Amino acid sequence: MSDNDGKKTLGLRGGNRPGNVKQSFSHGRTKNVVVETKRKRVVVPKPGAAKPGAASGKIAGDPSRRPAGISDAEMERRMKALQAAKAREAEEAAKREAEEKKRAEARERRRQEAEAKEREQREAEEKARKKAEDEERKKKEVEEAAKRAAAEAAAPAPAAAAPQGRGAPNHKAAPAPTPRKADREREQRNTRGKGRDDGRRSGKLTLGQATGGEGNRHRSMAAMKRKQERARQKAMGGTVEREKVVRDVQLPEAILVSELANRMAERVGEVVKALMNMGMMVTQNQTIDADTAELIIEEFGHKVVRVSDADVEDVIAEVEDKEEDLKPRPPVITIMGHVDHGKTSLLDAIRDARVVAGEAGGITQHIGAYQVKTEGGAVLSFLDTPGHAAFTSMRSRGAQVTDIVVLVVAADDSVMPQTIEAINHAKAAGVPMIVAINKMDRPAADPQKVRAELLQHEVIVEAMSGDVQDVEVSAHTGQGLDELLEAIALQAEILELKANPDRAAQGAVIEAQLDVGRGPVATVLVQTGTLKQGDIFVVGEQYGKVRALINDKGDRVKEAGPSVPVEVLGLNGTPEAGDVLNVTETEAQAREIAAYREQAAKDKRAAAGAATTLEQLMQKAKEDENVAELPILVKADVQGSAEAIVQAMEKIGNGEVRVRVLHHGVGAITESDVGLAEASGAPIMGFNVRANASARNSANQKGVEIRYYSVIYDLVDDVKAAASGLLSAEIREKFIGYAEIKEVFKVTGIGKVAGCLVTEGVARRSAGVRLLRDNVVIHEGTLKTLKRFKDEVAEVISGQECGMAFENYDDIRPADVIEIFEREEITRTLD
Ligand code: GDP
Ligand code: MG
Repeated sequence: MSDNDGKKTLGLRGGNRPGNVKQSFSHGRTKNVVVETKRKRVVVPKPGAAKPGAASGKIAGDPSRRPAGISDAEMERRMKALQAAKAREAEEAAKREAEEKKRAEARERRRQEAEAKEREQREAEEKARKKAEDEERKKKEVEEAAKRAAAEAAAPAPAAAAPQGRGAPNHKAAPAPTPRKADREREQRNTRGKGRDDGRRSGKLTLGQATGGEGNRHRSMAAMKRKQERARQKAMGGTVEREKVVRDVQLPEAILVSELANRMAERVGEVVKALMNMGMMVTQNQTIDADTAELIIEEFGHKVVRVSDADVEDVIAEVEDKEEDLKPRPPVITIMGHVDHGKTSLLDAIRDARVVAGEAGGITQHIGAYQVKTEGGAVLSFLDTPGHAAFTSMRSRGAQVTDIVVLVVAADDSVMPQTIEAINHAKAAGVPMIVAINKMDRPAADPQKVRAELLQHEVIVEAMSGDVQDVEVSAHTGQGLDELLEAIALQAEILELKANPDRAAQGAVIEAQLDVGRGPVATVLVQTGTLKQGDIFVVGEQYGKVRALINDKGDRVKEAGPSVPVEVLGLNGTPEAGDVLNVTETEAQAREIAAYREQAAKDKRAAAGAATTLEQLMQKAKEDENVAELPILVKADVQGSAEAIVQAMEKIGNGEVRVRVLHHGVGAITESDVGLAEASGAPIMGFNVRANASARNSANQKGVEIRYYSVIYDLVDDVKAAASGLLSAEIREKFIGYAEIKEVFKVTGIGKVAGCLVTEGVARRSAGVRLLRDNVVIHEGTLKTLKRFKDEVAEVISGQECGMAFENYDDIRPADVIEIFEREEITRTLD
C-alpha cells in the first residue's frame, strides 16, 4: 500500500508541475529520488517505487538495489544546482539560468543513463542469482521430498510447503503490507552479499523500532519527500508551492512586482524570475502593466480579477457599523462669525489660555483643535479654524467634520456680511447652530437688536420663540461661558452622535504643514474608529505609517478615538486641510491609493489648465474687456493661511478691477515663484515666510516685488489698496536686522541661549523678533536677553557676535535665522 501511495504522490507531482524541461524526465526519475531519500533517512530503502521503464516486473529490477553512493552524489549535485540557482537569482541573469538549466538537464540525463545501465546490470545479476537460487532450492526440495518420501513413503511434497522455504515468500507471495520488509531484506542481501542476511535483518528491525513503527516512518518519509521535492524544485527553478492554493488576484492597471507576488502569495524572486523568462528584466520595485501581470498570474496558476484604477479605493470602502458597535462620541464644534466679533477670544476663553495676546493681528492664523470638559462632564472638541474658508474648503473636499456651529455675533455690533455667510454655510451643511452673543461686557451691548437682526436671516433664537439656542457671553469676563458649553452639550445630546471606536480609523485633516524638525505633520480629527501608533494610512494623495500621535496638550498618546484631534507624524508628504485619512491594511494599498489619487488630480489639473489657457481665458478676456486684473502670488507658512488669504483675495474687487491669485502655496518663496511673478507682472505676498537667498537675488534683478506679512488683514488691506491704485509706499513693519544662530547653549536660569552673528543691520533688544527656519516664520515674539560678551546691551551691530534668548520660547537651533523688526502703528481703515 505504502508503495502505491508513494507512487501516486509522485505521479501527481509530476502532473502538477508546469510543462517545463525538468518535467519531461521527472516521471522517470522522481521515483528514484524518493527511493534515495528513504534510504538515506531510514537506511532501509523502499522497493515498490518501481520504474515503469525497468524491464521486468520482478524484484530484480528494483531500483533500491542501487548502491547508496549514488544518492549522496546526486544530493551533492542538487545542492550545487541549488546554490547556482540562488546565485542566478541574485544576479537575475536569465542567460545564466538557461545555461544552468541545460547543464542540469544534461547532468540529469547522464545520471539517468548511468542508472539505467546499472539497473540493467543489476537485473541481469539478479536474474542469474535467482536462477541459481531457484535451482538450488528446487534441488533441495526435490532431495527433501525424495528423502521424506523415502522415509515416510506416503507424504508428497505439498506445493504450499515451498513458500515456507527461506526466501520464497519474498518473491511471489508477498502481500501488500510486507513488501517493504521483503524488499529491504532483498536489497540488503543483494547489495552486501548473501552471507550476511541475518545481521542485516536485525539491524533493520532495530531501526524500525527506533523510528516508532511503520506508521511513523511513513510520515517522516513523506516529510522528507516533500522537503526534497521542494529543494529539487527550487534548484530546478520551478514553483515551490506544490499543493497550490488558487487565489483571486486583484489586478489594477499597473502593479508593483513585489505587490503582485504578495497578492499571489508567491515568492518575489520566483515572480521576478518568471518575468525574466518572459524577457522582462525588472526588479521587485518596478511597476509592470496589467497585461504582463496577467500572464504571470496565469503562469502561477491563479485567477486574475481585473480592477479599474478607481477600484483601488475600494479597500477603504465604507463599512456599515452595526448599531450595537456604535458608542457615543463628543461633538465637534466650529466657531464662526464676522471678523473681530470675538471668535478667537471666545475659543481662547473656553480653552482658558490666552493665545490672543501672542497672535499677530488678532486673526486666527493656524488651524488647531482642542477638547474641553464641561462642568456637567461632557467632552467637547473645538476646531479653531480661520473662519469660513477652512469650513468650506474642507466641505468641498468631502470632509464634513463639524457637528455644531457656534455663531458669534458681537452684541455691540450687528449682523455683518460674514455673519450671514456663516449662517449660509451652516445651513448648507445642515449643521445645527448655537448663537453666542459676545462682548456682553461692553456698555453698547444690545443683544435684543442682534436677535432681531438674526430673525431677518431666518435664524430664530429661543428668546424669539424659535429653536436656535442663544447664549449671552463675554470672552473677556467669562460671563455665560459655562452656559454656552452646556447649550452645546445639550445640542450634542439631541444629535445623539455616535461612532464605532473598534474599527480602522477614518479622520479629516484640519491642518497640515511641513515641520523642519519633524517632517510633514497633520492635525487630524478622528471621525470613526481608533487611530493607533503604527497604523498604516492613506490621506489625500499622501500615505504613511503613524510614527507618533500628539494630543492637543502636546503629549504623546498611543491612540486617538472618535472626535479626538491629534497631530500625526509619519507622513510621506504634506496633505491638505480637508483631506480624509483612512487606515489601510497594507502599505502597498495605501501607496497604491495615494498614487492613484495623485494621478487623478494631475489629470484633472491638466484638463482644467488646458481649458483655462485656451478657451476660458479668451472668453474671460472678452467678457471682462473693461475689467483690470491684479495678479498676485501668495506663499504662506501653512495651508490654512494660504487658503484663507486666497478666499479673501477672491472677494476683493469691484466693477473695474479684480484680484487674481496666480499661484498659492506653502513654504519659502523660491526662484520659480519669482519667475512666475515676473512673467505675469505680479507681486509676491509672503505670509510668515521669506524668500530664500536665490529668490531674493533673482527678485532684485528682475524687479519683482516681494512683500512680507504676518497679519492677514494687513495683506488684504494692501491688496485692496493696490487694486484701487491707492497702494501707498508706507511700510508697516521695518526689518532692522538679521542674525544667524551659530550655536545653542543651555544656561541655567535662562534656558537656551543662541550664540549669533548679526549679519545685517542691528539687533535691538526692544524690537520684535522672529525665528526663521528654512525661510518660514516659526516663532514671533520678543527677546529675553541680548548679550555682548557677558553684558546685557541694547543693540548689537552687523558683524558682531552676540547672545540672544527668546521670551517664552526655547526651540532654537543652529542655522536658524533671527529677524529683528520694528512695527509702526498705522490706523487701519476698513471699507
Ligand atoms: P475674531 O476676529 O472673531 O477672532 O475676533 P477676536 O477674538 O480677534 O477679537 C476681536 C477684538 O474683540 C479683540 O480686540 C478682542 O479683545 C475683542 N473682544 C473679543 N471678545 C470680547 C469680549 O467679550 N468683550 C470685549 N470687550 N472685547 C472682546
Ligand atoms: Mg480670530
